[in-house]
Amino acid sequence: MKKLMLLVGLVGFTMTQAQTKYVLVLHGGAGTITKASMTPEKEAAYKAALSQALQAGYAQIKSGETAVEAVAAAIEILENSPLFNAGKGAVFTAEGKNELDASIMYSKNLQAGAVAGVSTIKNPIKAAIAVMRYSPHVLLIGKGAEEFASLQHLELVPPEYFYTAERYKSLQKFLKNEANKKPTSFSSTPSALEVDYKFGTVGAVALDHAGNLAAGTSTGGMTGKKWNRVGDAPLIGSGTYANSWVGVSATGWGEFFIRTAAARTLAAKMEYQGKDVKMAGQEVIQEIEKLGGDGGLIALDKNGQVSTPFNTSGMYRGTITDKGEIEVQIYR
Ligand code: ASP
Repeated sequence: MKKLMLLVGLVGFTMTQAQTKYVLVLHGGAGTITKASMTPEKEAAYKAALSQALQAGYAQIKSGETAVEAVAAAIEILENSPLFNAGKGAVFTAEGKNELDASIMYSKNLQAGAVAGVSTIKNPIKAAIAVMRYSPHVLLIGKGAEEFASLQHLELVPPEYFYTAERYKSLQKFLKNEANKKPTSFSSTPSALEVDYKFGTVGAVALDHAGNLAAGTSTGGMTGKKWNRVGDAPLIGSGTYANSWVGVSATGWGEFFIRTAAARTLAAKMEYQGKDVKMAGQEVIQEIEKLGGDGGLIALDKNGQVSTPFNTSGMYRGTITDKGEIEVQIYR
């Protein structure tokens, strides 16, 4: 009996020893993404972009750069791709503009930076990083954020740069749907159509050689947003968080991620309740679902363990291990 227990213990031990270690995880948004609504070409394009972003981030980690550099490299690729609702390809506000939000957090000394409501910064994630590194502040908005980006010599573009025909079409559809709604229906339960108006954000979490974690998120927010609405993506603790336990980036119906302080709550569950990253991630999404919200998140802990829970039909997501093995997934 004793021998058997020893053996079981030993097998358990070797199994934990052999656990895969991830160094980078990313997402390209959650939503009603089904195989039926996808063409093979579109699927291949999404997978190629996600793989390219994983490789770019991995190259930074491999060459000994910090997790911040890895997150920046991965997110920049997704921001430059018109496929995602971040940077080029961002969704439109009700007025037909693009207002972008982004944030970064680095576990080392809990550093953080973010920008919100910007429309001329080509790569908002770079502006968020500049805020973290070169300003005494955490969150800059609108014109001021753009002025700061210009002082930091970041690339500025005319607002039209962010235009894509597909997103503009979504806005037209949204506006038509709004016009047909009863004036009293300021409803909090969205239709499947509405749900799709707010997904496609991108995010990444990386673990570097020094054991530090960084998490970043970048988005155009939700189609048809009004009144300079800001979502969870640029809010530290809601859409993005990283401490010495775990890094988190969220995507989905931002208001719910703000109300539940989703990213920070996940970290607190690990830190104060001793939960593992999978359990902590699932609980956060379950709470959001209970409130009527939806979306998903990616989390990577200090041991290189990941969790990618979501309650939508799909979430663009990918991981890369310390050995460079890539996995990219879209559906449930
Ligand atoms: N969470 C983002 C927002 O509410 C949207 C998204 O993830 O697609 O602004």
